Amino acid sequence: MIFYKTKDEVDLIKKSALVLGKTHGEVAKLIKPGVKTKDLDKVAEEFIKDNNGYPSFKGYNNFPASLCISINDEVVHGIPSNYELRDGDVVSIDCGVCLNGFHSDSAYTYAVNTNSEEVKRLLQTTKDSLYVGISQVRVGNRIGDVSFAIQDYVEKNRFSVIRELVGHGLGKNLHEEPQVPNYGKRGRGIVLREGLVIAIEPMVNMGKRNISQSSDGWTIRTADRKPSAHFEHTVAIVDGKCEILTTFEYIEKEYKL
Ligand code: MG
Ligand code: MG
Repeated sequence: MIFYKTKDEVDLIKKSALVLGKTHGEVAKLIKPGVKTKDLDKVAEEFIKDNNGYPSFKGYNNFPASLCISINDEVVHGIPSNYELRDGDVVSIDCGVCLNGFHSDSAYTYAVNTNSEEVKRLLQTTKDSLYVGISQVRVGNRIGDVSFAIQDYVEKNRFSVIRELVGHGLGKNLHEEPQVPNYGKRGRGIVLREGLVIAIEPMVNMGKRNISQSSDGWTIRTADRKPSAHFEHTVAIVDGKCEILTTFEYIEKEYKL
């Protein structure tokens, strides 16, 4: 069942999302060659806790960290480690914050000093596809309108969309109904209603769409080992229109593609 939110609840999610946006900004300051991914995780966890929040991912199904950090052919759910970032890496950072009982969720993908035009195009296309999807979020449209818009945009740019992993509702729980696939058909799925809060999160591969799971039980990788990108916002329908609750503003003060 879908839990539609009141305006007061959306305001609470927005407060959570602001801490999340600032957490991403703190991480963005440190994205450079030589930094260990577990040090990024530490900074994020401390910042969230200093702001009275709790990292939504930590302990979720026993996930061991506050950030999912997925490098190059890793798509999502990468575990922070002693790995040191290096020039050319494609680095996806996914984070969730729980504040005052409400979760927010967002992700951003960086390129570390890349000189690959195709990597830049992958990242830009994935980010743009997120906003193309968001542009379909309004009362009366359907989930399939969002899904189709993302898939169509990505495939027109000759990249592929992962099907096994989807966006989701969220609120008091990190993952709620409905599922928000990044592929689908116009006019299908549930009708979008006032108070819906969803995380939209295209995961886009440079090569083929197929994925595999690593032996750590978490990390999802591309089957062809080509790079993948992931961008995510938490959005709500308020007064019939889409409001983006999370923000990349603090990231993009620190980082430009
Ligand atoms: Mg996420
Ligand atoms: Mg999510």
